[in-house]
Amino acid sequence: MNTKIQPKTSIVIFGATGDLAKRKLYPSIFNLYKKGQLAENFAVVGVARRPWSNETLRDTVKASLEHEPNRDVVEQFCQHFYYLSFEVTNKSTYHELKTLLDEVETIHKIPGNRIFYMSMAPEFFGTIAKNLKAEGVTDSGGWTRLVIEKPFGHDLESARALNQEIRQAFSEEEIYRIDHYLGKEMVQNIEVIRFANAIFEPLWNNKYISNIQITSSETLGVEERGGYYDTSGALRDMVQNHMLQMVSLLAMDPPIRLTPDEIRSEKIKVLRAIRPITEQDTSRYFVRGQYGPGVLNESEVPGYRSENNVNPHSKTETFVAGKILIDSHRWAGVPFYIRTGKRMLLKSTEIVIEFKGMPMNLYYSENQTQSNLLIIHVQPDEGLTLFLNGKKVGPAGGTTPVQLDYCNNCVDTTNTPEAYERLIYDCMLGDATNFTHWDEVELSWSFIDSISKAWEKSDKDLHFYESGSMGPDASMELLEKDGHQWWPITSESKEEEKRSRSNESFRY
Ligand code: NAP
Repeated sequence: MNTKIQPKTSIVIFGATGDLAKRKLYPSIFNLYKKGQLAENFAVVGVARRPWSNETLRDTVKASLEHEPNRDVVEQFCQHFYYLSFEVTNKSTYHELKTLLDEVETIHKIPGNRIFYMSMAPEFFGTIAKNLKAEGVTDSGGWTRLVIEKPFGHDLESARALNQEIRQAFSEEEIYRIDHYLGKEMVQNIEVIRFANAIFEPLWNNKYISNIQITSSETLGVEERGGYYDTSGALRDMVQNHMLQMVSLLAMDPPIRLTPDEIRSEKIKVLRAIRPITEQDTSRYFVRGQYGPGVLNESEVPGYRSENNVNPHSKTETFVAGKILIDSHRWAGVPFYIRTGKRMLLKSTEIVIEFKGMPMNLYYSENQTQSNLLIIHVQPDEGLTLFLNGKKVGPAGGTTPVQLDYCNNCVDTTNTPEAYERLIYDCMLGDATNFTHWDEVELSWSFIDSISKAWEKSDKDLHFYESGSMGPDASMELLEKDGHQWWPITSESKEEEKRSRSNESFRY
């Protein structure tokens, strides 16, 4: 990413009064402005139904930047914001939007480059895209791009229908499907770790790697999103997009060049090589769970079924663990284990690459050696840990685990851009590398659909887990069947895993 270019663009935010806009989009655009990556030639037009004025929107933006000590910069920044009260289905409001955009682009000397950012409920995406084209808002004299938030469909069929709708108005090259995990520093670092280190890439295959584990755990429950989440669940909310994107980055072959097309083409090959799971086989490969009540940070928390806007008899999964196999020369026989859930012991996303043992272990009899592990800490810590075996200090000899740590966000906390900041800037530059191509969406939905169909037919394998644990026992058993174990994320969770295993009687 060339951070010296200052794109000249308008950004229309559909859903400007909503949660995502306030929490993520305004602070991210501000950071770009403050760092000089956005010049004075930009404007943000916020649209939503509420009858706000420019001043109301500007006050909202100021409130979302309350932590910023330099209030003069905030004030200057807010002068680039405009608001239009807008109804998605009302065509005349698109004419008003076009007129407003023409005006602000004249004021801020923007050459008609427009980003349309869909920060609204997904059922509106298709209608907005079609109306933007039909009412001439995309005829701007510059480039136009459409940014789409997740979820991109609910299953393969609905994703295809949505794609057909938006493709009537925007070409694939103009569509930027956000997966904010792809904006995270350490997810982007996967490619560098793999392709810029001669010590890793030769080992990155089934000869030397035993298994790969990806855990993305949250301590939060569904909070205010119960209504949406209860119709979605962890498989659709996390696995279809973020988890499969991380699998494809970890498993892809080196691209011939670092261009968006070449990288995507390698990721797509991985998704095509994932072994489909039949409905009958689902319970052998995937485990689902739902959180019950429990204690987190010394406070009692309710079970999922007692959350707001959740059906008290809901069968929706809040936890998924799965074993994914990739049928390629590089990965045949290497399981990729994924797990993700809400109300777990800690908030963390980590990737563990477990290497195979020595062909002949000279130290086995005197002191069991530990597997070599490469751990990529994605969030909240950003960094790497490499576990090796070393000699115990002193005359007695024997081995001891040696842990080499590198903490990325300890070295430089000020310059690590937030995922949305990086992705918005990439979109302004027209760099689609870290956005999801339609082929990736289609392949990942087709993998997920057979699992969700199996789960819809029967709820007998829904496992309950205690809030504040690392998920149901069935998730541990999934790996134990293969002679593996989840590598504990921290020593704290190691203790917890032991505790949760002894708590076999948890029922909800
Ligand atoms: P939200 O808080 O519910 O905001 C929805 C926005 O849509 C509001 O600004 C609302 O404003 C506007 N709106 C609703 N109906 C409208 C209509 N008929 N015409 C015009 N505007 C309308 O939602 P959100 O949490 O910001 O999420 C937005 C999108 O981002 C969703 O697709 C969500 O899945 C995705 N997302 C959100 C998060 C997050 O952390 N929030 C994370 C990842 C993805 P008015 O009521 O004023 O019309």
